Amino acid sequence: MTIFRSNCFFILFASLLLITTSCKKKNTSENKGNTAFEQFKIEFLDRLWELNPVWAVYEGNHKYDAELTVYDEAHRKKITEFVRSMSEKLNAFDPASLNDADKTDHALIDNHLKSTDWYLNVFKKYEWDPSNYNVGGPFDVVLTGRHASLNDRLKAIEKKLGKVPAFYEAAKKNIKSPTAEHTQLAIENNQGSLIIFEKALLDSTEKSDLPQATKNNIKNLSEKAAESIKSYIAFLENLQKELTPQKARSFRIGKELYDSKFRFDLNSGYSAEQMLQKALERKKYLLNEMYKISLKLWQEKYFKDKKPLEDSLGLIKAVITEIAKQHVRPEEFSEAIEKQIPALAKFVDDKKLLTQDPSKPLKVRPTPEYERGVAGASISAPGPYDKKADTYYNVTPLDGYTPEQAESYLREYNNYTLQILNIHEAIPGHYTQLVYSNKAPSIIKSVFGNGAMVEGWAVYSELMMLEAGYGNNNPELWLMYYKWNLRSVINFILDYSLHAGNMSEEDAFQMLTKEGFQEKAEAEGKIRRAKLTQVQLCSYFTGFQEICELKEELKDVLDNEFNLKKFHEDFLSYGSAPVRYIRELMLTKIEKSSTKKAEEE
Ligand code: ZN
Ligand code: ZN
Repeated sequence: MTIFRSNCFFILFASLLLITTSCKKKNTSENKGNTAFEQFKIEFLDRLWELNPVWAVYEGNHKYDAELTVYDEAHRKKITEFVRSMSEKLNAFDPASLNDADKTDHALIDNHLKSTDWYLNVFKKYEWDPSNYNVGGPFDVVLTGRHASLNDRLKAIEKKLGKVPAFYEAAKKNIKSPTAEHTQLAIENNQGSLIIFEKALLDSTEKSDLPQATKNNIKNLSEKAAESIKSYIAFLENLQKELTPQKARSFRIGKELYDSKFRFDLNSGYSAEQMLQKALERKKYLLNEMYKISLKLWQEKYFKDKKPLEDSLGLIKAVITEIAKQHVRPEEFSEAIEKQIPALAKFVDDKKLLTQDPSKPLKVRPTPEYERGVAGASISAPGPYDKKADTYYNVTPLDGYTPEQAESYLREYNNYTLQILNIHEAIPGHYTQLVYSNKAPSIIKSVFGNGAMVEGWAVYSELMMLEAGYGNNNPELWLMYYKWNLRSVINFILDYSLHAGNMSEEDAFQMLTKEGFQEKAEAEGKIRRAKLTQVQLCSYFTGFQEICELKEELKDVLDNEFNLKKFHEDFLSYGSAPVRYIRELMLTKIEKSSTKKAEEE
């Protein structure tokens, strides 16, 4: 579970790398949009990076490597002013006068500005989430980056180091009523960051050929940075003593905040509550289908001589456990994935599901050492401005695993689930979607790309492939697919029920293990993640549901003229925009072409 999720984070992150200031020029020349709007976008992004230097570095913009934002009152004032002035400028453009690509950019910027205002003035995470404050990431990304020489990176770090004490002083002032969960997380994460200042940075400085005086200065500043981190940890540990269940802020954000966060983060056409109803219906449907398949497999294949279990969930579980035993050997894992990629590409071609670009082959490789923190398989893609670079499917070999760990991992990624993973990550899932979105480069869509659309497409493509006959309607494959799909459905229900409802942790655990057939470790990890984040776990099902509904809607509108290949290609041509925006654009296009036809006749 964790493996699969982190991959999905990674692919979004990787696609954002390599974007530098030089991109803007290219964007302008390629986009025949409104010149004034292009100018506005450039100004908007310049300001955005200036105010969010750490975010800029993560996006591959290294102009701000030496900066570190101190989140104090003065910074919040600057953000407020940014939102005010940019909203005013944005509102001067009438979206109706813009082309399709700019229309969605307009809407995405609008959503970002409104959401920034809400995060700052209503959600106020900076007051209750101490894990907001951790300098480890911002330093690590510069230290380990390959964008500049070691000397240059260290010089940037030297400047950045000077700001660490102020950073943590502001953090201490901001924290008002933290949750116990985020306080614990902040302590752990900050402890984890110490190694950068106590070891990694010192080692790199020693290796460099900077003058001795600079080396000494970096050493001194690192020591001070480590002291600041330790003093923040001590501050949190002290605070922790008062965080009794009665006194601490609850990790549950409550229905009102949840509804708003759902709207801003996912930009769905539905409210959280409406989507919850759909998730509950889908869960019922899936369990029912799973029972039918499992009963048949029980009687005809796996437990022929045994009377079927009375308990339907227990029966499903028993059949799933049998099927999971069918898996490759640890040493064959990479090869098994590599073999499936051309087969998936061929199936997509043969069934005319969408046009693929043969000039952009997907290369399977062992995950590079520096990315191995994430186990399993993941897509590593070039950004929209580095189109010539290769896209890799990173597969982490299982040689670091104990036999027990490998067995448990391989049961999860058994012969059937492994195929669904490949569809999701590679073809026609994330990799294919990225190839399409890179054809219509928009730095705005790269930066504010819609997670529900991106994940929704990957989840949609799994079902689409099976419906097109992939796997020849093998019942085992369908059953394992349903279990996989159930995971995103249950993620939604769990997240909503914990934050907007009052579900107890015990009930959550029961739901994940009994109705979701998850192992204890997976379920516990999921509950922990749900308590620390909000809404993100809903993106998979929300996007999936909206794409499925859009397909049905277009089938109704177009009737005989509906073509699955054309639907996929049109849908993907708008980049990683929210599904509801894509829907509007697709419907308008159909309307226009039918009016044109009527006039011709
Ligand atoms: Zn994904
Ligand atoms: Zn085994």
